[in-house]
Amino acid sequence: MKQIFTGNFGTMELIIDDEGNAMGKYQKAATLEGTYIYNTFNGKWANKGMSGLVTFTVIDGKLSGNWKKGEEPGPMKSKWKGDLVAQEGETTPVENTTVENPLKTKVMELYESEKYAEVISLFSENETELGEDEDIVHKFLFSMWFYGGLEEETYAKIRCFEDKFQTNRWLKLKGYYYDYKQWYDLALNAFKDTSEVFYENVKKKFDSYDVLYKEEKYKEVVKYFESELRLSVSLETFNIAEYYCEALYMDSDTERKALEKIRDFRESYPDHEAFIKQNGRFAFYIGREKLDLELIEEGLACFKKLKDERNIAKTKEVISETKNKIKEKANAEKRKQREQAASEKKEAKLKQHRFKSSKGKTFCQFCARDNDFASYDCEGRRHGHNFVLMKEDGSFKPICNKCGYGYNFAEYSCN
Ligand SMILES: [Zn+2]
Ligand SMILES: [Zn+2]
Repeated sequence: MKQIFTGNFGTMELIIDDEGNAMGKYQKAATLEGTYIYNTFNGKWANKGMSGLVTFTVIDGKLSGNWKKGEEPGPMKSKWKGDLVAQEGETTPVENTTVENPLKTKVMELYESEKYAEVISLFSENETELGEDEDIVHKFLFSMWFYGGLEEETYAKIRCFEDKFQTNRWLKLKGYYYDYKQWYDLALNAFKDTSEVFYENVKKKFDSYDVLYKEEKYKEVVKYFESELRLSVSLETFNIAEYYCEALYMDSDTERKALEKIRDFRESYPDHEAFIKQNGRFAFYIGREKLDLELIEEGLACFKKLKDERNIAKTKEVISETKNKIKEKANAEKRKQREQAASEKKEAKLKQHRFKSSKGKTFCQFCARDNDFASYDCEGRRHGHNFVLMKEDGSFKPICNKCGYGYNFAEYSCN
């Protein structure tokens, strides 16, 4: 289909194929390249050695949209406004075979006028007949996709018709599906030879992630992976998982999580050496720091699997060092407990009275109190007095024979 617009961008000719790819020309030598789905164009412009992004929608013949300089994503503030002035039918003519079957003609017509729901129902009602024609199946599958909300069903149908026609024709459509599922590793492969624009878009996801990692923005790496890339780990994209675990490990708050995650990845991909290496390193260092022999042994097992002799030797050394440290720590702990018990005992003893009787009076040698105070703590023993009965003003009273003061001073030091 070809559409011609005029607007603040000049005159533009846009050619859209039946898979939603769009190419455009405007002004003298400016070009557009992108997708045109649901009346919305998304893509790049290039003009006089400059380039950027542009998106616009056509509703009731009115074009309105935004563009920016530079191909990196960002706010698009500049406006495009215009009108649809001419429209021609399909530009890619139906290949040599003339469609004679009225049902097929109907499907083609409905598809051209973007009546996807009707394509789907017409096809479904006549699947035995229409399902034999690969071109019609092609329209049907794209209708399902453009109609929206039928992603899983579309994918199942693609698989089924791929087998039937032994074709790879719907690889790009599968790319849309992978993209929708956030399986960007698969999407990247699917778009590699089918759509430069989509390929670049998906690749950007991986590239931005790489940049965050290289700039050592580890918290952002973690966030980005968990929200965007966690479903995209496979043989060709193992590095994204490695970056993720490394980023977790760099932050001491999440180093345990790093270890758990790398164990998970290893379980899924047991032969990937970089995962084993990371597993070994994380377990070894965390174990050494926390004096956790089990973790250090886990590290050792990884190094053994890698036949990494240098690290095996180093780890064995650390294991015996750690055993000693654990023993020392236990001994120190015991010592501390003993000391504490002794000091508690001493403290308790300081609170005990020692009563003695003399000349019919009973009093504590340390605080001079009488028996009535037996149930209270002795406040004098710690102060070092030694009370004895002495005659003062004609009667016997407990006086400290060291400092000469009476019981009033029991709570003060004897010195
Ligand atoms: Zn006492
Ligand atoms: Zn005294």
